[in-house]
Amino acid sequence: MSSDGEEAFIDGLREQSMEKVMTIKVAINGYGTIGKRVADAVDAQDDMEIIGVTKTRPSFGCDLAVRKGYPLYCTYNDAEKIAAFEPAGYTCHGGLNDLLAIADVVVDCSPGKVGAANKEAYVKAGVKYIFQGGEKHAMAGMSYTSSANHTENMNAAGTRVVSCNTTGLSRTLVPLYEHCGSLKVECTMIRRAADPGDSKKGPINAIKPVLKVPSHHGPDVMTVKPEIDINSMAVAVPTTLMHCHSIVAFLPQGHGLTTESVLEMWRSNPRIIIMNGGETNITTTAEVMEYARDIGRKWGDLHEIFVWEDGVKLDGDTLYYFQAIHQESDVIPENVDAIRALMGTEADWKTSVAKTDAAISAYNGL
Ligand code: NAD
Repeated sequence: MSSDGEEAFIDGLREQSMEKVMTIKVAINGYGTIGKRVADAVDAQDDMEIIGVTKTRPSFGCDLAVRKGYPLYCTYNDAEKIAAFEPAGYTCHGGLNDLLAIADVVVDCSPGKVGAANKEAYVKAGVKYIFQGGEKHAMAGMSYTSSANHTENMNAAGTRVVSCNTTGLSRTLVPLYEHCGSLKVECTMIRRAADPGDSKKGPINAIKPVLKVPSHHGPDVMTVKPEIDINSMAVAVPTTLMHCHSIVAFLPQGHGLTTESVLEMWRSNPRIIIMNGGETNITTTAEVMEYARDIGRKWGDLHEIFVWEDGVKLDGDTLYYFQAIHQESDVIPENVDAIRALMGTEADWKTSVAKTDAAISAYNGL
């Protein structure tokens, strides 16, 4: 090899090893509705990789992990529980502690309220951690949405990606707040009763108001943007497809906005889709979900918040609008951005969002 060729070869190796160093090693603890989606979104990125996912016991979710090539670990460290995978035909690489030992960051996608026990293991292993919206802000210590507080989360030890409802509120309210400088909001969350794959929850033939008023959803926005003065009420209805928000925002005098300029503001922000219900015939959450399937989204997901153009009206200082939230997926790309924030690898939220979404679009084949 000529000395020029040798130098180029060594430079190539150096670049490769730099790339390896820069690849963030991500563990998923809890491979359910959210966990399996976060795993694929992470896997699609070129700056991070899935090094393992956990299951509590051998079940049909293990097949998916095996098909995707994600190493399977047991949620527990108990030798008997780990050994139970083998007879069911799955290779289990160890318990949670074995997985944490090789991870840079763990995305905890366990069912709500079990996070506190898991956090102990993460802290002990010295691994950064991301919880989901079923956990309390106080337990995680920080909360996150890409548009509200990416910078504040840079290099933090851990955070909580807020719930699907709070993420949805944050997407449309944060740009409004940033334009207006102050914002008061009242909203009603019309919530899906259960996820499509969930056979245990309800109601199936009733409307169930959340009798704790105000509900936690609106005030939870203040964990990522404390300046937004917001309250909410919530009601669960017998549907599995999406949540729908009915929002009234009180803008300060002199806001200088019109209905059209509010729509333009949202159009210029990422992860918001605006469509005219009358023109497109997408007038309910059923058609919104059909649209997501038509455009080839994996699992029929819609990471974006869907706003009906003809349901937006600014009347003086009062803004009225509806938005639909795909509960299983709007938080997915936010988890990817949160990983970059905690690892300190991308300080600009819009750059992270663009990178995340481009990689996800590619895996969706769009
Ligand atoms: P899920 O029940 O579908 O999945 C949870 C997974 O965690 C299951 O595979 C379960 O076996 C596993 N698990 C059980 N105990 C565990 C433990 N101690 N440690 C680790 N894993 C454990 O739940 P989900 O809907 O994916 O919800 C996960 C989190 O995401 C919750 O905090 C939830 O509030 C939040 N979230 C859910 C949705 C949604 O629509 N499903 C939307 C946004 C946020």
